[in-house]
Amino acid sequence: MAALEDQTPFLFRDSTDKATFDDAVWGRVFNHQRDRSREPLAVCRARTVADVVAAVELGRERNCRVSVRSGGHAWAAWSVRHGAVLVDLANLVDADGSRVSYDEDTQVVSCSPSTTGETLNTFLSAVDGGKGRMFAGGHCPEVGLGGFLLQGGMGWNCKNWGWACESILAVDVVTADARPLRCSTAEHADLFWAARGAGPGFPAIVTRFHLATRPATQLYQSLYMFPIAEFKSALQWVVDLSPTADADTEIVVVTSYLSPSDETPTVLANLTTFKPSLAAAQAALQPIHDSLPSSLSPSATVFCQHTTLAAEYGKQRAANPEGHHYISDNAYVAADGTANIDIAELLAGPFTALPTRKACALWFSMAPTAQRALPDMALSLHSEHYVALYAVWEGGADLAAGSGPSADKDEDGERCAAWVANAMAGIERHSVGSYLGDADFQVRRTRFWSEGAGQRVRAVRRAWDPAGRICGFLDVGDASGVDGLRNEFEWL
Ligand SMILES: Cc1cc2nc3c(=O)[nH]c(=O)nc-3n(C[C@H](O)[C@H](O)[C@H](O)COP(=O)(O)OP(=O)(O)OC[C@H]3O[C@@H](n4cnc5c(N)ncnc54)[C@H](O)[C@@H]3O)c2cc1C
Repeated sequence: MAALEDQTPFLFRDSTDKATFDDAVWGRVFNHQRDRSREPLAVCRARTVADVVAAVELGRERNCRVSVRSGGHAWAAWSVRHGAVLVDLANLVDADGSRVSYDEDTQVVSCSPSTTGETLNTFLSAVDGGKGRMFAGGHCPEVGLGGFLLQGGMGWNCKNWGWACESILAVDVVTADARPLRCSTAEHADLFWAARGAGPGFPAIVTRFHLATRPATQLYQSLYMFPIAEFKSALQWVVDLSPTADADTEIVVVTSYLSPSDETPTVLANLTTFKPSLAAAQAALQPIHDSLPSSLSPSATVFCQHTTLAAEYGKQRAANPEGHHYISDNAYVAADGTANIDIAELLAGPFTALPTRKACALWFSMAPTAQRALPDMALSLHSEHYVALYAVWEGGADLAAGSGPSADKDEDGERCAAWVANAMAGIERHSVGSYLGDADFQVRRTRFWSEGAGQRVRAVRRAWDPAGRICGFLDVGDASGVDGLRNEFEWL
């Protein structure tokens, strides 16, 4: 007789040995900053849409909520919720057994939500008779498309190509009342609207994304490294050139320790251009190179070096090591209505005083995308300056039962939490809001959508999940329920 595990995708907390259940709950969660007081009732390791339907029906039968996991990379482990049925989509495949499929005629790729950006692009690089296509997914290779796309998706060259969710053509879902449906602009349009920016507030479970792809290109990169003392002038140089820079070029400034033995962090300006040839890449990067002010003295410069997506994924993997504790927060910094903000002055404090050797601070150019009107979708807020802080440290105990993230008692953890909190206290009043993807609603309340879109997210949640079956936003005490987030600044 087949083992129970072969017959059912469910593991129940009360009837599964602790190590097995613990691994099913936490084994695929990237962040080791974990609140172990959150104990699901059961884990459904879904392989088919029917398994997802069964998980929602179990939630209804037991009168409990259902949480969802695609890639497990939500910083605050949103998939792990107390008393819920956790639907883990790691092994979900289509009816034909495929995780990813491609239509040569439409150039549309369809994939399971647990597919990672790296897996998708490896697959796409070989399609169209070997010419290759790409999808501008997340920078970190292991981020799942599920969480990434639902919250908007700040993918490759987002500053010019726009948000990754703008490439979603349709989603297949299982609703909160356990019905499989397809949503697009033509079918269940309000749910499709929410699938592009409601993030963890999406009131259904996506089982398949249908995505437009773009032609694969070559990648070339210019890198400029500056001593930390030059942070303000280096950032200002890049801020000024970004809005009019080449339209296939992604622009980022990061401060981080390049080596554990370094006394101070380094400022790195990274310009990655997606072009078919070296000549085209040089034409894009030369004007930027020529605009470097003579007052700046880079400690190292790389001009227009060939790279690959695989190499860039490798760098991201190294910058975000596994098995570590993380706290992240972010803001869309913008002009305050009366005067332009001195962005370099505003960021200098937190960007030059990182709390650990593994932490980093990032400024990501969103101009000119931030100046154009967005399509009608839940994602409705951004600005030309995306600022994110990533506190990273080793070791430390899991969070004490029932406590919030700031309760970790190890010294590095306390220093990291203080760095993020103090920095955001200084930055948030100059922001128009924040991106869901690098946020933790248990720690800081802010805006994530325009006012109208925020209200519509709440209305779509009430319409499609009046019983609050799908967990939604994890705020303080996990209390937001059907209503969702208030979408307002805490300090107003
Ligand atoms: C190392 C690292 C690098 C990152 N880099 C980027 C980046 O370059 N760009 C960017 O935009 N973001 C980035 N992020 C943020 C990341 O996109 C979000 O954390 C995202 O939520 C992760 O998606 P996931 O599926 O892996 O996470 P999960 O933890 O599996 O999912 C997060 C939540 O999203 C919802 N959800 C996920 N899948 C589904 C589904 N199928 N149906 C319904 N709801 C679902 C659920 O509420 C779930 O709990 C990064 C995060 C990390 C840890």
